[in-house]
Amino acid sequence: MINNNELIDQIKTYNKFLNIETVNKAYNFALEAHQNQKREEGVPYIIHPVAVAKILTELKLDSATITTGLLHDTIEDTKVTYESVKKEFGEEVANLVDGVTKISALENKAANDSKAENFRKLILATSKDIRVLLVKLADRLHNMRTIQFVKDKDKIIRKAKETMEIYAPLADRMGMNRIRDELEDLSFSVLNQPARDLINERLRFIKNNRDDTFKSISGELIDLLKKNGIEATIAGREKTPFSIWRKIQNKKISLEQLTDIIGFRVIVKNVEDCYKTLGIFHSKFSTIPGKFKDYISTPKINNYKSIHTSVIGPKKNRIEIQIRTFEMHEFAERGIASHWKYKSSEKIFRSLMERI
Ligand code: MN
Repeated sequence: MINNNELIDQIKTYNKFLNIETVNKAYNFALEAHQNQKREEGVPYIIHPVAVAKILTELKLDSATITTGLLHDTIEDTKVTYESVKKEFGEEVANLVDGVTKISALENKAANDSKAENFRKLILATSKDIRVLLVKLADRLHNMRTIQFVKDKDKIIRKAKETMEIYAPLADRMGMNRIRDELEDLSFSVLNQPARDLINERLRFIKNNRDDTFKSISGELIDLLKKNGIEATIAGREKTPFSIWRKIQNKKISLEQLTDIIGFRVIVKNVEDCYKTLGIFHSKFSTIPGKFKDYISTPKINNYKSIHTSVIGPKKNRIEIQIRTFEMHEFAERGIASHWKYKSSEKIFRSLMERI
C-alpha cells in the first residue's frame, strides 16, 4: 500500500497548491479513529481510506475531496462525529463526509426489491455536491477490488449487483469510463465467473495466435499519418471481458467471431486532424460496414467525444479505431473529473443527471 508521503508526493505532481497540511492532518485523524479496526482481509483499516484517497488523487481532484476520501468512514464506523470533523476540517469537508455517510446508510436500508432506477435517483438527491458521489465511487471501487476477502457470500453478491446496477451506471453518466469499466468487470467476476473465464480463455487463444503485435500495427499507422503530415500518438487498450460479454448478449458477435481484442486510440492535436486522420484511414483501408460513428459532431449523452471506425488494417487484421484529441481523451478517461472546477462541473453534473 502507499503511505501518506507517497500520497502527498503524488498530489504534488499535479497541483502544488493543494493543501498538503490538511491532507496530512486528515491522514493522522483517520489513523487514530480507525486504530482498532481491521479490514476483512486482515489488514489495518487505514489502508482502505488511503486507497480511496489515492483513487481520488489519480482523478486529480481537489484537497477537500481527497481529505474527504481519508475521512469518509470516520463518522459511520467510529466515535467521530459531524461536529468534530467540522471543528478540525471545516464545514465544507464535514458536509462532504456527511454526504458519503448518508449514501452508505441508504445502501443498508434499501431492500432487495427497490428498483435500481429509484435507488440511483435517491443517491443523486442525497449527493447535493458532486464530490460526494466521486468519493462514493472511489470507495466502491476499492471495496470491489478487495471483495474476494469478504466472508459473507450473500453480501458479496449483493454488493456486486448493486455495483452493476447502481454505481457503474452512475460512473457512466459522469463520463468516467475507466472507473465504469473496472466496476463492471469486477462485478462480472462475482456474478458470472464461468462466463468470464470462458472469455478470458478465448482472449488468450487469440493473443497466442496473432503474429502481429499491437506495436507493429500502431507503428504502421503512425508512419502512414506522418507521411500525410499528421502527428499522432496511439494508445491501445484491451477490451474488458465484461464489455465483450455485453456484445455477445446483444448478439452483435459470437465468441467465435471475436477477433479484434485491442482497440486503437489515435490521439491528435485538434478536431481538424481527427477528420483528416479518418480520411487517411478510410482511403487506405477498407471499412467494415456499420461500425462508423461520429461522436465529435454528435457527442454521447455523457459528453463523450471521439470518432469510431473499424477497418481491415495492416496485415488484413480487423481493427477498431477511435480518433480523438487529447482533451477528448482526458474526458473519456476521467469524465467530469477531467475538467475539474467546482462551480462549472456542478452545472454539467446537474444537466447530465437530469437525464438519468
Ligand atoms: Mn469506505
